[in-house]
Amino acid sequence: MKKALELHEFVKEIKRGNISITEHTEKILEEVEKSNSRFHHFNLIAKKSALQQAKEIDAGIKTGQHKGKLLGVPISVKDCICVKDFESRAGSKILTGYLPLFDATAIVKAKAEGAIIIGKTAQDEFGFGTFSNNVGVDFETPLNPLDPKRCCGGSSGGSAGFTALTSLTHASLGQSTGGSIACPASFCGVAGLTPTYGRVSRYGLIDYANSLDKIGTMGKTVSDAALLLETISGYDLNDSTSLKAEAQNLENAKPSNDFRIGIVKEFFKGCEEKVKKTCLKAIDKLESQGTTVKEISLPLNAKYGIAAYYLASTTEASTNLARFCGMRYGLHDKLEGNFNEYFSRIRSAGFGTEAKRRILLGTFARMSGFRDAYYLKAMKVRTKLIKEFKQAFENVDVLVNPTMPIIAPTFGEIKKLSPLDEYAMDLCTVPANLAGLPHASVNVGEHKGMPVGLMITADHLQEKKMVQAAMAVEELK
Ligand code: GLN
Repeated sequence: MKKALELHEFVKEIKRGNISITEHTEKILEEVEKSNSRFHHFNLIAKKSALQQAKEIDAGIKTGQHKGKLLGVPISVKDCICVKDFESRAGSKILTGYLPLFDATAIVKAKAEGAIIIGKTAQDEFGFGTFSNNVGVDFETPLNPLDPKRCCGGSSGGSAGFTALTSLTHASLGQSTGGSIACPASFCGVAGLTPTYGRVSRYGLIDYANSLDKIGTMGKTVSDAALLLETISGYDLNDSTSLKAEAQNLENAKPSNDFRIGIVKEFFKGCEEKVKKTCLKAIDKLESQGTTVKEISLPLNAKYGIAAYYLASTTEASTNLARFCGMRYGLHDKLEGNFNEYFSRIRSAGFGTEAKRRILLGTFARMSGFRDAYYLKAMKVRTKLIKEFKQAFENVDVLVNPTMPIIAPTFGEIKKLSPLDEYAMDLCTVPANLAGLPHASVNVGEHKGMPVGLMITADHLQEKKMVQAAMAVEELK
């Protein structure tokens, strides 16, 4: 298969007049429509508006009106990121019919640079999951294009799946609370970048857990994901947790070996042997090219990361989901019975099993009498985990570990897992998310024909280092 042009090369060709945006958009939409009946990567395909946008940009280029960094680049968007007038459901039945009146800030920024939104991608309902199999009541589970018996990973499964599938230039916007960009990127063999918490505005992102949620990017290459990340980053008055941080100029990042790597010892334990070996082989190669490699220990993160994360995230999720009661957004019905009966009816029908489990877990953790023992303790632990990372970054520039302990599991294997087994799979990804640290997942090889991802975590606001290291790893192949 011909390799797709990277985003920056594509835009150059567009500016030279060598590619028609309309034709390229038509081609990719055809691919989306054709593949979707089998792989289910999209919850919504935005054919009409994408073609209209393409035509407008083509016309604008001729008059010199359009000059953006993403001129004509097709972008798919995780369902939980609001796009004006597109049904935005975060993969849930409860948001059926919800048409946002505005674009999320990330969408505004991408569109301003000429990106074309081609559709909303499949995900675990509200981001609750690791395999994208917790889809809302009326969605199909996205399948891994490299082996449809296996999952795409979650929760940004549709974004990663389509990024791997397409033969054309394209990038995707995902979202991570506890690893939802890194995990599917690893399982589908694409590059996934999650920024520092607050680097990209959450305005217009349908909340899972506010103190953890980040919008990030996926691409066939690190360069693609980095260019899109640079475009959507920046302070936003509409998000009170947005950071006033200097831009990182990621679009000009080049691979570099000039950094100190810390291998996170504990995150290699419990990994499938072949996954471990593939990651270590990549690290050895880096070392032979002059990178300093050390072993780093993060015992607290390894021991308490999962517990602190699932307490913090379900607590926040349970309050966030309270607003979906059949009165304000999405699903509603005839007002019959008293309010409690009405709310129960709507919420019972609108939420899937995992969403209900998380509402119960989170409500329990913040109930009076249990709050001190669970939620507040998790918050104290979270502070300790951040400190442990900060100490590690005194000695190294980036930390590395396998993104996931396994390759993409088959749906048969997933069926055998209990919810707790599933949560345990997030061992390597939740700590960086709890600490709000930027992290990348890059493909480093294969096992049984399925991709293995290496996760690279940098200190707060060090996206440039993360990208340079990720590019160096990508070059090893
Ligand atoms: N697997 C994690 C969870 O289920 C992460 C999900 C996410 O980052 N949205 O919460």
